Amino acid sequence: MTSEIYYSSHGPFPEPGSWRPLIICDVDEVVLGFVSGLELWLSPRGWRLARDSYALNGNIRDSNGIEAPAAKVEELIAEFFAECANDLTPLPGALDALNLLATYGDVIFLTNLPANSATARRANLDRLGLTHPLVVNEGPKGPALARLVSKVSAPVAFLDDSPEHIISAIKDAPDISTIHLVPDAGFRRHLTAIEGVGLFTGDWRQAVRFILAQINAGNSH
Ligand SMILES: [Mg+2]
Repeated sequence: MTSEIYYSSHGPFPEPGSWRPLIICDVDEVVLGFVSGLELWLSPRGWRLARDSYALNGNIRDSNGIEAPAAKVEELIAEFFAECANDLTPLPGALDALNLLATYGDVIFLTNLPANSATARRANLDRLGLTHPLVVNEGPKGPALARLVSKVSAPVAFLDDSPEHIISAIKDAPDISTIHLVPDAGFRRHLTAIEGVGLFTGDWRQAVRFILAQINAGNSH
């Protein structure tokens, strides 16, 4: 199960070992620095990224502080994905954390990104030595999670920065340990712990401690 791309909407799906702990991990802004990458990309184009709410809409502003309209935000994000899907740098602690966790269980990446950026994103992960299977999903992640863990009897952890996906996981795959990991402090301060979440943090080391404790306790899903 290495260096492969799967699509939740069609085709085959990864088959993790039933008795091995499983760590399912989002990519953008959990493993790779989406926010810092976007900020760097926006700057020479005359835009900056504020952090006045937990959203991109309303926070992309021109040099006079005028907000980009929603359609422009959508266009900028699409352009950023198209140009930079192979060009993001890892977030602090992410590589060490994943390399350590991979000695305890299987790792699978579950990402929502435009399907035409999947190959570039695969290359970005591979270059960092992160050859774990990559699942490209659309919409809430709960259904894909339920499918991924259906035959797994060992502990399962899921990490994501998006409240939407954490809520979806709690709803559709309630036995999974959820870690809401939001590394960017400026955005994290607008959030609070979601009801039912296992851990809310910005720190990969804390996430690793939590996941290893779940694995050691044998909290099976
Ligand atoms: Mg993300």
